[in-house]
Amino acid sequence: VALTPDGLDKVFIADSGSVSVEVAIKMAIQYQQAKGETGRTRLLALERGYHGDTLGAMSVCDPRRGMHHLFSGILPQQFFVPEPATRFDQPWNPEDMTPLKRCLEDNHQHIAALILEPIVQGAGGMRFYHPEYLRQARALCDQYGVLLIADEIATGFGRAGKLFACEYADVVPDIMCVGKAITGGYMSLAATLATAEVAEVISQGEAGCFMHGPTFMGNPLACRVACASLDLLMESDWQAHVTRIEAALEKGLAPARSLKGVADVRVLGAIGVIELEQPVDTARLQPACVDRGIWVRPFANNFYVMPPFVMGDGDLAYLTSNMVGALESTLAV
Ligand SMILES: *Cc1c(COP(=O)(O)O)cnc(C)c1O
Repeated sequence: VALTPDGLDKVFIADSGSVSVEVAIKMAIQYQQAKGETGRTRLLALERGYHGDTLGAMSVCDPRRGMHHLFSGILPQQFFVPEPATRFDQPWNPEDMTPLKRCLEDNHQHIAALILEPIVQGAGGMRFYHPEYLRQARALCDQYGVLLIADEIATGFGRAGKLFACEYADVVPDIMCVGKAITGGYMSLAATLATAEVAEVISQGEAGCFMHGPTFMGNPLACRVACASLDLLMESDWQAHVTRIEAALEKGLAPARSLKGVADVRVLGAIGVIELEQPVDTARLQPACVDRGIWVRPFANNFYVMPPFVMGDGDLAYLTSNMVGALESTLAV
């Protein structure tokens, strides 16, 4: 609560990122039920989004591109709008808001919450979008009585250059999911934070409390690891490390721009992405990486890294030059 955006004072601890998304979805629905908005049973999500692998989380992932379409027959049917097209560093195009505006105008009475990954769409395409989208999405949610759920599981704790990506837009969501870096990756733990308003409305509803109670929520060992890892993060000059890694990724990955078959190279915070025109030939690229002494897991069209904040400049230079080298050797053949 001390670290996250002001107003997110209530915390529900969960055992994984996907579970924290389930919890966020249930919170939003229980909140609307308690308000008497019983028609608001569905979620609104962005295309190219990724929110996890359990059933509720799958239902708000990109409905067409991922593997989840195999399960489409049994998933709850949600609303989707195209992802924002304006990139993080491009001039803002106001037309980006039109699909979200239209969908809320037409369907708000059925929608409990909008769920999105702020600024960085992760596993759905490693895309960085314009903060103005997030600002205006917040305003539209308020206008239509829809809660805003920010999935910061990938971006939280400094990864995208701010402690939380919502800070790029000065936006406070109603509900926020954190996971992954909360323990530095050493144990499974996640959390769903909510405003006091969300928590109080839920508690005044029919159930009298939030209806979820996994056995190992608040697992003491995982919590202790999280406290230790967050202490390390906050005692370090994490911002300087992320800025340093950002510069090293920019410099190290830039030569990939001139390779044939590379569509884009982009960096934000400690995230570096080489996007190819075609899906990565993982069967060839991964052994080429291992031969060069690096381990990188590509997926879809993206060859990307999110290095630990403690990685030194020498290792960063080694990592990026060998990524470019491995890619060149496989693209050239
Ligand atoms: C990884 C991730 C999840 C799922 O978290 P798990 O701990 O793997 O269940 C959800 N949302 C985002 C944005 C993620 O990056």
